[in-house]
Amino acid sequence: MTQPTPFPQLIDRFGRTVDYLRISITDRCDFRCVYCMAEDMTFLPRAQILSLEEIYTLAATFVGMGVKKIRITGGEPLVRKGALDLLKQLGQLEGLEELVLTTNGSQLSTMAADLKAAGIKRINISLDTLNPLKFKAITRTGQLQTVLDGIQAARAAGFAGLKINAVILKNRNHLEVCHLVRYAVEQGIDISFIEEMPLGVVGQHDRSEAYYASDLIKRDLAGQFSLEAVADKTGGPSKYFKVQGTNTRVGFISPHSDNFCSTCNRVRLTVEGRLLLCLGNEHSVDLKSVLRAHPNDKVMLTQAIVDALAIKPEKHEFNIHEQPVILRYMNMTGG
Ligand code: SAM
Ligand code: SF4
Repeated sequence: MTQPTPFPQLIDRFGRTVDYLRISITDRCDFRCVYCMAEDMTFLPRAQILSLEEIYTLAATFVGMGVKKIRITGGEPLVRKGALDLLKQLGQLEGLEELVLTTNGSQLSTMAADLKAAGIKRINISLDTLNPLKFKAITRTGQLQTVLDGIQAARAAGFAGLKINAVILKNRNHLEVCHLVRYAVEQGIDISFIEEMPLGVVGQHDRSEAYYASDLIKRDLAGQFSLEAVADKTGGPSKYFKVQGTNTRVGFISPHSDNFCSTCNRVRLTVEGRLLLCLGNEHSVDLKSVLRAHPNDKVMLTQAIVDALAIKPEKHEFNIHEQPVILRYMNMTGG
């Protein structure tokens, strides 16, 4: 097998360098959040999803092509059997500067210390409310206390970068934004507020009714906190503000009200092995087929990835007021 040296770098036709890969390692989850999944989900059969070895091969190839940061996500990544072993292997990839994780926190009580040892640098933990009943209503199957215990375990394990991700929905949890920031300040961690994205048809939940813009959250916070804009970037689309007098940063991910596509540096690998070039478009390339048809052929694989970059769109096409054009769910996408 010949290996191209150096590997081609990942630069798209708009001159954006891609150095950040998000990998969904499972579509399964122990929660059923209203904005992410239908209540009655059918998950993918095993043969259709990438094996852990295939995920490792793809990740290593991307790192060889200049990817410096990998985020492991899902579905709930920590419910996949063997996830920890995969993370340990990824943590040793030469050239990878940051291995980070997004989780719902349900498994952190038992796994936090092992995740730290595996080389995970930062963890984003989803938490939309501190009210147990609302938590149950949003996640349908989750228990708030389990997640709060998981956050404590992650702090005890010594993670320097912990962040809460909260999707804010009008009339479900929009009155919680100050409580959530206060909790983040008490814990000495960061928090990002996310505008809901229209991915998949999720049943009774009406997205245009639930839309709550980042500017409204900022207005709500202004009564209780002083927020100073900071230039900090963590390689993602969040715009950050420091809560004055604390170490907590508040981020806003605003795909609708503040389009961040011009600085997009990332692509996503779905658990089915499709490389998604944009969260808000259907453009994708089937890398699993390339990998399975030509195992061990790095040249074919790197060429398929370079060709894929050529179709990375300039920007997403979300419109909260229309039926979703993107039919895949967030758990498939790797949010
Ligand atoms: N299960 C893990 C979790 O919940 O953190 C990882 C996967 S989840 C798909 C990743 C992130 O996407 C979570 O913070 C979740 O709140 C967010 N998310 C899910 N569906 C979304 C949607 N339709 N719009 C915006 N964010 C969404
Ligand atoms: Fe599961 Fe995360 Fe989706 Fe909630 S947002 S259903 S925790 S994958």
